[in-house]
Amino acid sequence: MTAAEVTRSGFIAVAGRPNAGKSTLVNRIVGQHVAIVSPIAQTTRRVVRAAVQVDDAQLVFVDLPGSQKPVDRLTERMQRSVEHSFDDVDMVLWVIDGAVPLGAGERRVADMVFASGLPVVVVLNKVDMSKPAHTIERITAIDEIIAGREYASLVPVSALTGDGVDTLLKEIAGRLPEGPAWFGDEDVTDMRDEERIAEYVREAMLGRLRDELPHATVVTVDEMAEDDENGQTIAVCTIWVERDSQVGIVVGRQGAGIKEVGILARERIERELGLRLHLELRVKVRRKWRDDESWLARAGL
Ligand code: GDP
Ligand code: MG
Repeated sequence: MTAAEVTRSGFIAVAGRPNAGKSTLVNRIVGQHVAIVSPIAQTTRRVVRAAVQVDDAQLVFVDLPGSQKPVDRLTERMQRSVEHSFDDVDMVLWVIDGAVPLGAGERRVADMVFASGLPVVVVLNKVDMSKPAHTIERITAIDEIIAGREYASLVPVSALTGDGVDTLLKEIAGRLPEGPAWFGDEDVTDMRDEERIAEYVREAMLGRLRDELPHATVVTVDEMAEDDENGQTIAVCTIWVERDSQVGIVVGRQGAGIKEVGILARERIERELGLRLHLELRVKVRRKWRDDESWLARAGL
């Protein structure tokens, strides 16, 4: 079905703890790698919207940063964007990591999710990592956290393998009100190409960084142009770190690190955006950027 045939639609906030698999789930659902993913918590910093059609319904997923206690201006802004997102949606998907024990963090997310007053669909993710008996145990633990509050349904899924995702989509689609298609057939996401490029560069980099460094880096696109002669897009990006000592770690021995990031990112960008890319990366220091409100705003965070 096309966007012209849509009769029902809705926005669905995807909430949950960092690392629960929210972005993986959204990518799986829309069939494209719109939201970057990594094993590092707080990979998602900005809200990503992505749409899919299920029969006559258009589902617009709002992938959110993980819900957490803020530790600096950056995480404070991220947490605020999570809470504000509930103002403009029709439903909340609460994604729970089925592979780790449920704790106080999950309780805090539950309180936030139910305080929204929106219909809540609970998603128990990563079922590929545990035995069925374990999944049942998990559901009992979730019931305790929910503590009698009402939710629309609970669906076990694996965002990784796709198990249970069709059931989840039908469950959501069946609850959406009448409405128009907000996204055209070609528009899976509302992110601009520049934003996507910055994100893909960060994703390529996150995999090779450790400790505090992933959180201390941010990527900006400084220049983008079309080279008409050879049909390439040229993008110049800066990877920002917080300290001089971090530059060398990102660049790597004889530039090997940054080169690898460039290759990985270029492959991803070319595949996802359908273009040929000449990518230039540089590394610069911006002290304490995570606590600099105006700088965060300019970087789109
Ligand atoms: P987010 O922070 O909630 O957006 O989580 P991500 O989507 O970035 O995923 C965090 C990590 O969990 C990544 O390493 C994913 O590959 C992994 N992951 C996500 N979903 C699944 C799943 O269903 N099964 C398994 N085994 N791993 C998953
Ligand atoms: Mg994410």
